Amino acid sequence: MKTVDIFKKKTVFSLEIFPPRADMGEKVIYDTLDKLSDISPDFISVTYGRNSGENGCRTVRIAADVKEKYGIESIAHLPCISFSKEQITGILDSLKDNGIENVLALRGDISDDTVPTGDFRHADELISFIRENYDFNIIAACYPETHPESQSAAHDIRFLKNKVDCGADHLITQLFLDNSHFYSFREKIAIAGIDVPIEAGIMPVTNKRQIERMVKLCGVDLPPKFVHILEKYGDNETALRDAGIAYAVNQITDLIAQGVDGIHLYTMNNPYVAHRIYEAVQNLI
Ligand code: FAD
Repeated sequence: MKTVDIFKKKTVFSLEIFPPRADMGEKVIYDTLDKLSDISPDFISVTYGRNSGENGCRTVRIAADVKEKYGIESIAHLPCISFSKEQITGILDSLKDNGIENVLALRGDISDDTVPTGDFRHADELISFIRENYDFNIIAACYPETHPESQSAAHDIRFLKNKVDCGADHLITQLFLDNSHFYSFREKIAIAGIDVPIEAGIMPVTNKRQIERMVKLCGVDLPPKFVHILEKYGDNETALRDAGIAYAVNQITDLIAQGVDGIHLYTMNNPYVAHRIYEAVQNLI
C-alpha cells in the first residue's frame, strides 16, 4: 500500500528503524521487529546508512521483510548524493523486485568522506527521476527548524515546495523538541501551497550523549523545560529514559489534539521505549 493512502483514513502512527551494525548480525533487528510488530504501526521505515550494506542490500532486505514477514507496510530510505544514476537505478529496481512501494527520497548528509557523483545534487532530482521512471509512492524529508545548510527558512520552504512539485506525496519532519516550531512551520508551508500529509518526527530522548549528538547534527532547539530534564536526570539512565518517554508522550498528545496528520517515531531500535509511548497514546490515534 502507498503510505499516502493511509492518511485518508486516520491519524498515522509509524516507526523508524535502522539496520544494525554488521558485526551485530541481522538477528538483532528481527528480535526488535518481533517486539515492534505488536504495536501494529501503520508502517515502518528503514533508514539507509553506513550499515546498509552494498547497494543498500540490508535496507532493502529488512524493508521487504517488514512487509512480507510481518505484514506491515514499509518505506525504504534512499539518500542519493553518493550514487550514480546507474547505481540508483539498480537500487530502485531491487526495491521494486522486492515488492516495496514506498521510498523516502533523500539527498543524504554531506560529511568529509562524502564523494558526490554529481548525478543527483539534491533530493528533488532523485524525486523527479523516480517519478519519471517508476511507480513508487515518494516521501521526502522536511525541517520545522530549517535545514542547517539553508540560507533562510523561506529558501528552505521554497525548495520543499519544489520537492512536492517534483512528486513527493508525503513528508516526514526532522525531530523537534518544541511543538511550536512544528505549528509555525505547518502554517508557513500551507501558505506556500504545500498540501501533502506531513508527519511529525518524534525522537524520545533517552540518553544524554544521543541528544547532544542530535542537537549538533540537526541544529535542533533545546527548550528550557527539556534542558531542566537533562540537568536533573542526565546522569541517571533510568530516570532520563522515563522522563524522555514522558516528554515524547506530551509532545504527541499535543500534536494529535492539534490535528497532526501523523506521528513518526524514531525508535532508535528500542522496542521498550516505543511500546511505552504507544501504550500511552494508542487511544488518541
Ligand atoms: P535536500 O532536500 O536536497 O535539501 C538539502 C539542502 O539543500 C537544504 O538546505 C535545502 O533547502 C537545499 N536545497 C534543496 N533543494 C535544492 C535545490 N534544488 N537547489 C539548491 N538548494 C536546494 N540521511 C541518510 O543518509 N539516511 C537516511 O536514512 C536518512 N533518513 C532521514 C529521514 C528523515 C525523516 C529526515 C528528516 C532526514 C533523514 N536523513 C537521512 C538525513 C538527510 O539525508 C539530511 O538531513 C540531508 O542533509 C538533507 O537531505 P534532504 O533530502 O532533505 O536534502
